[in-house]
Amino acid sequence: MKTIKFNFNNLKEKYKTPLYIYDENKIINNINMFKNNFKHEKINTKIIYASKAFLTKYMAKIIKEEELYLDCVSSGELYTAISAGFDPSKIFLHGNNKTKEELKEAFNYKVGTIVLDNLYEASMLLNIKDKGYKPNVMLRVNLSFQVDTHKYIKTSYEDSKFGVLINDETINVIKELSNDNTINFIGLHSHIGSQITDTNYFINHTKEMMKLYKMLKDKYNVNLKALNLGGGFGIKYLETDPFIDYSKLLNNMINTCYNLNKEYNLNIEDVMIEPGRSIVGNAGYTLYTINQIKKTPNTNYLFVDGSMNDNLRVALYEAKYDALIVDKENEPKKVNYKVAGKACESGDILIENIKLPKANINDLLLVINTGAYHYSMASNYNRLLIPAVVFIKDNKDKLVVRRQTLKDLIKYDM
Ligand SMILES: *Cc1c(COP(=O)(O)O)cnc(C)c1O
Repeated sequence: MKTIKFNFNNLKEKYKTPLYIYDENKIINNINMFKNNFKHEKINTKIIYASKAFLTKYMAKIIKEEELYLDCVSSGELYTAISAGFDPSKIFLHGNNKTKEELKEAFNYKVGTIVLDNLYEASMLLNIKDKGYKPNVMLRVNLSFQVDTHKYIKTSYEDSKFGVLINDETINVIKELSNDNTINFIGLHSHIGSQITDTNYFINHTKEMMKLYKMLKDKYNVNLKALNLGGGFGIKYLETDPFIDYSKLLNNMINTCYNLNKEYNLNIEDVMIEPGRSIVGNAGYTLYTINQIKKTPNTNYLFVDGSMNDNLRVALYEAKYDALIVDKENEPKKVNYKVAGKACESGDILIENIKLPKANINDLLLVINTGAYHYSMASNYNRLLIPAVVFIKDNKDKLVVRRQTLKDLIKYDM
């Protein structure tokens, strides 16, 4: 494991634990990797950060400064982005099961693009005649494209709750959307799932979408000018996970679009992707203090001062993490530990099994690659407090979200 240069003892002193820590330089590097590789001289590209991976006002500000677009799925994500001064015309409103209120809110903000999840949403949108502006609109399709990832993060299978299957009914709605002059219907969206590490899926998916566009043009004379390929780019969580060369993949994806656009005689001008995890995942760490150590007949438990509340992914997807004990990076890893939290659930395990140097009470445990779907999924179960979030840029730390207080817990109670 590469050494991480931050002074975790100082961070604990200053901000307490558990603590979410982000390496801002790494986020910028990740963004630049996408910008530098998902581009083409002759076709426009848009990189849309999927804000559900991690969103705070500060994060929205980084996305704004880096000139990416933003994917929001709820009033709350919209509100956070707008509060941070994010340009609504660069927002894509996603989400299955949008409410009429959310659509109206999007119209009030003049959100750039609305991605419809299903045919009901399409009729809801078409029935609101007075939108106040002409939004770009896309429709999410479901190609039933099989990928290899955890079942809870697969999105593209026949009975998925996301997107619509391509059939006569859908094609009629696509025609209707294309002909409606209160909106700009620009194209289709498809997202095949999350934490996908086999790059072939992304290329095959791109080809499938291009074939669909060809079919729509040849058979139905529907000419779409934008294509949104979704996100799902997996990251390396464990030292033993394979490295994925995204620069090559992204080049390959956009070249495939360009070539097939020409070959199939299509009119696609704009190709979009929506990375979330791959922008923030490897830039985040969670720092815990080891609070207790307990031995059972077959297990050495490390009890940390956090819980599944700050990392739900283990309970939800059986996700696996690497960790280190601060200041013991060079000691031999001799003991097998199970890292558990404070929540009253047997499933409140942060790491099922990890070899670490012999731990002591009050040692600091740093869990690695916790930048995506951690803070954004945090909860107050057991009335535990949600940790603070600190960003570090060029060795300077900055509090981005303060730690919750006990008073915060009762502030909604009447
Ligand atoms: C979750 C999601 C993403 C981002 O997925 P990652 O795996 O974090 O890249 C992008 N687009 C849509 C529609 C999503 O639901």
